[in-house]
Amino acid sequence: MTTIGFIGLGNMGGPMAANLVRAGHRVTGFDLSAESCEGAREAGVVIADDAAAAVTGAEVVVTMLPAGRHVVEVFGTILPAMRDGTLVIDCSTIDVDSARKAHAIAAKGRCLSLDSPVSGGVGGAQAATLTFMAGGSPEAFAKAEPILLQMGRKAVHCGEAGAGQAAKICNNMILGISMIGVAEAFVLAEKLGLSHQALFDVASTSSGQCWSLTTYCPVPGPVPTSPANNDYKPGFAAGLMLKDLGLAQEASQTSGATTPLGEHARAIYERFAGAGNEAVDFSGIVRYLREGHD
Ligand code: NAD
Repeated sequence: MTTIGFIGLGNMGGPMAANLVRAGHRVTGFDLSAESCEGAREAGVVIADDAAAAVTGAEVVVTMLPAGRHVVEVFGTILPAMRDGTLVIDCSTIDVDSARKAHAIAAKGRCLSLDSPVSGGVGGAQAATLTFMAGGSPEAFAKAEPILLQMGRKAVHCGEAGAGQAAKICNNMILGISMIGVAEAFVLAEKLGLSHQALFDVASTSSGQCWSLTTYCPVPGPVPTSPANNDYKPGFAAGLMLKDLGLAQEASQTSGATTPLGEHARAIYERFAGAGNEAVDFSGIVRYLREGHD
């Protein structure tokens, strides 16, 4: 049993903390939202009065927060309350610069740290099937891995501080671009009189094959579990895809990388989300393209 502090008990953090309780750890949590706290309390998380109280006495701390500014602020608040050598794992999806700032705050407080964003969404958080992509020292990763594998089924050590966020941003840039590509192909197929199933049967076993097609097909029918069959309820909301594509562009600018399709995908998702679709699954972009928007 490990004593774990958990800050950020929302859609992702709540079920992740619940899985740590289920694995037999003593988990003390905190969230600014009373509703999030209540859900976690029902799952067996002890709710503290504030973030510093949640981490006092913890051997491992996990944070799951919306954006970089929240992570940097929370790290500044909790580090003085943590013992030397405590491991702090940030699982939020944030910009690489903020991730590196958070690592620096942890190092100043003589704590081990890992940036370890996740892939797998709310379903993966509930089922403990997330993939973790981690950045930090080998020592921090070795200590974190058994805990991560109780919230997910794969943990990849991607490199030093910030490498986990870099992997997440690159992966989701591929995903955003590929979903638009697959959706465009279905819209073109419709105009050409080709059925969804025929395109799926060919492309899923040809060079057009990709996750956006075979696991997350944006039209109803070929993949019964995809959000297209559930009125495009997320899944992974367009607003979160827009956030990740924005992080990819920020990183492209600061690093000097050329990512024109990443920027185009970000702009398309910005218009889609801005048209009232922020909470729609990101594969719903097919409906937007079908209506003739670009
Ligand atoms: P969420 O909004 O449901 O949860 C975030 C929680 O953080 C909220 O409950 C909020 O009250 C809390 N919070 C904010 N500031 C705080 C503070 N200072 N102290 C304590 N609590 C604070 O968001 P989520 O869907 O759980 O996402 C969390 C992170 O995971 C984000 O970075 C997101 O990009 C990433 N992510 C989400 C998904 C998904 O499908 N939802 C998938 C992969 C990654």
